[in-house]
Parts: sequence; C-alpha cells; structure tokens
Amino acid sequence: MKIICIGRNFGEHAKELGNAVPDEPVVFLKPESALIPKHAAITLPTFSDDIHHEIELVYSIIRKNGKAQADKVSIGLDLTARDLQQQLKEKGLPWEKAKAFDGSAYVADAFTALESFPQGHRIDFVLKRNGKVVQSGHNGQMLFPIEAIIANVERYMLLDEGDLIFSGTPAGVGRIEVGDRLEGYLLGELLFDLTVEKAKVPASVR
Ligand code: ZN
Repeated sequence: MKIICIGRNFGEHAKELGNAVPDEPVVFLKPESALIPKHAAITLPTFSDDIHHEIELVYSIIRKNGKAQADKVSIGLDLTARDLQQQLKEKGLPWEKAKAFDGSAYVADAFTALESFPQGHRIDFVLKRNGKVVQSGHNGQMLFPIEAIIANVERYMLLDEGDLIFSGTPAGVGRIEVGDRLEGYLLGELLFDLTVEKAKVPASVR
C-alpha cells in the first residue's frame, strides 16, 4: 500500500505558502510507516519546531476492469515539518524528510462510498484546533479533482487496490503544539479527535 499526496491543490493554500498554482498535479509519496496507529496521539518529532496540520480528503483506490478509480472518501492529516520542508525547497531537494516521517499521516476509520453522493455533490471537511475552526474546504475547490489526479498519476505509476490519495489541503495550515486537540469533520460528522504529545526520543539517538 502506498499513500499518494497532492501538493498545492487548493488555490488559497498555494498562495498562503507563496507557491504558484501548478498546471499539473504536484505529487509526493508517504510510506505506510508514516501512518499514526488508529486513535493514538500525534507525537511531535524531535527534528522540527514547526509541525503543521494539513487536513485533507483521503480517497481509497480500487481497480475495476483494469483501471484505477476512487471508491470511498474520508479525511486525514498530512503533518508537515514546515521548517525542514522550507530548507529542502530552498536547496531544490526532495521533501520526504519533511513529509514522510514516522507519524506524519493520519487516516480516519470511517470511509463513505462515493457512489452514495449524487454527481457533483459537495463534500465539506473541517479541522478544529482546540475547539476553533482553523481549516475548512470542500472537494469543489480542488484544482485537480480526484478523476484528474488519478489520470495523471497513472501515467507515471501503478495505482493499486488499497492505495490512498490525499487531496491536498485548503488554506489555514498552522503549527501544532503539545497539548493541542485536533478534531476532523467530514460532512459535519466528527471522524477523528486526536491530541498532540511530545515525542519520546528513540533509543538509537539518545
Ligand atoms: Zn498536504
């Protein structure tokens, strides 16, 4: 299983980080090891002072008649070491250390079948930090809708059954701190409720 993430897919978010709006999807990957175990806390890594929340729609992939398609949707977090990402961007280096570290992804349990939505249905999602809405968006704001993302990604790599695609994040990203509470809502329903804790320093680097 792989996690495909789309960057700069919401115009207002691209702008808030000073990035140009892309003319084709910006794609990066997270490994399965990036996933935070279900209902565990978020732990802040020791190598960054600036971990940002990015709430995103998460689509799950199936294969039908030899073609990939999204069949279900949920929400998740693409946690980003913004300080490290900025350094990597300035050097023109890949983003993985800032985006694919252990504990950099959360995916809610509950997925909804896309079939259950009428064509063109607006799928709203919201992130609250300590009870206050910090990010909100919907699928209609995606510069590249999920079908366009799939078509583009498939030109380069296999999309396999069970792969996940993160939609990109709307505006309002920001730093998280120890003690924070992050609640994610899809269509008004609470799908995750996570606290932020300090990381235990791994034995290997003590
Ligand atoms: Zn993201």
